[in-house]
Amino acid sequence: MLNIKNGLVLYGPELEPKKANILIEDNYIVEVSAHASGGREIDVKGCIVSPSLINSHVHLGDSVAKDIGDGEPIENVVKPPNGLKHRLLAKTDPSDIRSSMRNSLKEMLGTGTTTIVDFREGGVNGISQIDEASKDIPIRKIVLGRQNTFIKDPSYKSGAEHLNDDFDEIRKNSLELLKYADGVGLSGFGEVDDEVAKIITETCSQVGKISAIHAAEYEQVQRNSLKSTGKTEVERALDCEFNFLIHLTSPINNDLDLLTNGKQSVVCCPRSNGALSVGIPPIKEMWSRGINLLLGTDNVMFNSPNMFREMEYALKITRGFYKEYFPPVEILKMATVNAGQALNLNLGCIQEGMVADIMMVELLSDNPILSLINRTESKNIIGLVTDGKLIYMR
Ligand SMILES: [Zn+2]
Repeated sequence: MLNIKNGLVLYGPELEPKKANILIEDNYIVEVSAHASGGREIDVKGCIVSPSLINSHVHLGDSVAKDIGDGEPIENVVKPPNGLKHRLLAKTDPSDIRSSMRNSLKEMLGTGTTTIVDFREGGVNGISQIDEASKDIPIRKIVLGRQNTFIKDPSYKSGAEHLNDDFDEIRKNSLELLKYADGVGLSGFGEVDDEVAKIITETCSQVGKISAIHAAEYEQVQRNSLKSTGKTEVERALDCEFNFLIHLTSPINNDLDLLTNGKQSVVCCPRSNGALSVGIPPIKEMWSRGINLLLGTDNVMFNSPNMFREMEYALKITRGFYKEYFPPVEILKMATVNAGQALNLNLGCIQEGMVADIMMVELLSDNPILSLINRTESKNIIGLVTDGKLIYMR
């Protein structure tokens, strides 16, 4: 039993600051109160005790390609199968790829992240790569895999018989992948047909796993989508019933109306959009419509996987974009509460009965939420708990 004492706890789904002790037993938070006693005591007077962070979208695999391709058009850099990233990864020694992934995972733990959702390329092999890279690193990984067979061949000629054969293959490959992965993460509708996407999401939902896709990342993909199908990428993603839509930087037509009543979540990656010069996600509009918003650092290629940096950028770019106030607690929720709910993981929130994933961080101003977002560096994170276990204390 662990007792985190005397901290300023960001309690419950609204992250309300209150002075309390937290009693943890067998992975779970059992009591949050001023009088909770017993267990191994950790005195964190002068610290914020917050849910640790959830990075809802990252491509760990390109950790080895940091700051490559800056200034190139987005499709030249990341689009499979022939973008710069994919060519570079194909010729890099797998052990170098793994060791740079491992460094990124350690950096994440060092910056308060205990759960990540990784877009994993390379099919089943790619999944064993992250398993190996993360050996003995106590970070919770939600791995969303993909197969090269999901990507349409540009020279492909459709024909009924051939299509049916392909679909059986896609279904079989999806099921095989989902034996090892927590779900499927697709690069986008530019590379994947709607029929294929539908089979994948159906297969995911049959086995209770997650389906995610990049959507509306920039204007051109939206225009291409309208031209080729008469629908926006968001309409297509909703028709296919994906659980997670990544980006939504460029919604058009009535995309936001369609998202308003849906069950899906949107993962915003504002630093990635900035790095690639594609825009600013309309966080305030989506939030005011009640769309469940999450936050991710996207490719390690363009961004450090540090969620504090992402939160600060997200808050300030949103205020700058709208020229209006935006509540900082909503940004912290994107990195904690909202993600825990979307992933159905019973974490991301400090409350009795939740899994104990907690960070202890020095309080650097009188406003604990802004202290986290504006000021916290790795050195200010003094302790981290995941699954009820103390990972480090410094
Ligand atoms: Zn991405």
